Amino acid sequence: MAEQPRLKLNDANDFPQFGLGVWQVPNDGAAAAVLTAIEAGYRAIDTAAGYNNEEGVGEAIARSPVPRSELTITTKLRNDEQGYDAALRAFDRSMKYLRLEKLDLFLIHWPVPQRGLYVETWKAFIRLREEGRIRSIGVSNFMPGHLTRLIEETGVTPAVNQIELHPRFQQKTSRGFHAAKGIATQSWSPLGQGKVLADATIGELAKKYGRTPAQIIIRWHLDNGLIVIPKSVTPARIRENIGVFDFKLAAEDLARIDALDDAGGRIGPHPDQFG
Ligand code: NAD
Repeated sequence: MAEQPRLKLNDANDFPQFGLGVWQVPNDGAAAAVLTAIEAGYRAIDTAAGYNNEEGVGEAIARSPVPRSELTITTKLRNDEQGYDAALRAFDRSMKYLRLEKLDLFLIHWPVPQRGLYVETWKAFIRLREEGRIRSIGVSNFMPGHLTRLIEETGVTPAVNQIELHPRFQQKTSRGFHAAKGIATQSWSPLGQGKVLADATIGELAKKYGRTPAQIIIRWHLDNGLIVIPKSVTPARIRENIGVFDFKLAAEDLARIDALDDAGGRIGPHPDQFG
């Protein structure tokens, strides 16, 4: 397999640009999906306390034929565990479930601005990183206003922001803001939860390149410098989705996908309202 690209984060760590997402994978199916992915060449896994499958992911890490040092593991803090002390406790529980000594990336899952706790929560994340228990710290579903507040009040810029991002919802404003601040953008629901796979333009490009629609969309994320974490539990699709490192989309084809952006294309909740 061609080599997988990695991105340099603003904390000097590097991070795989491709990984497996495991939202909605039941705990008792997570180990099998993650092991299938590792065998297929995946080296990064994206879970969350709120997915209720950290124990299954932890089992896969323990059974992995690939050493822990070659895996990059992300988990996220539950919304109702924000706050300084609550976040520290929640981190310990996640590490127990994942059977890890050190985490690669910990994210605040949603800002939940109505609770007003994300700055305090971020201070706990900073402490955990200073103590060497986490390599990189970041956030998810933060809008530029939330990020500005975090940075101004703590002086620490998140290494990544994981946001809904797919051809129908391209988040150009957030991406511009992230680029200016040196924050890496991770795309969640990169395939639009499967809904963008049937798009006619994507279908035409799949024919042109002799690839599948999923591979075309994943390649678009990679070619845009985004970190992409498609989810599947189906072994054939897990293998299909990683078959993206031996081709690139031409500029005019990237532009055709760029033209699919739709202000109304959001699938998930609005970050100012959720939680
Ligand atoms: P996705 O865009 O990755 O789509 C997954 C769905 O697409 C699958 O359930 C399957 O139905 C289909 N699919 C996948 N590969 C396919 C293939 N090759 N051919 C045909 N169909 C295929 O959706 P997602 O799971 O919502 O997002 C990916 C990951 O992003 C999640 O698993 C999770 O890790 C993360 N995520 C994070 C947040 C957040 O708030 N931070 C929210 C949602 C998702």
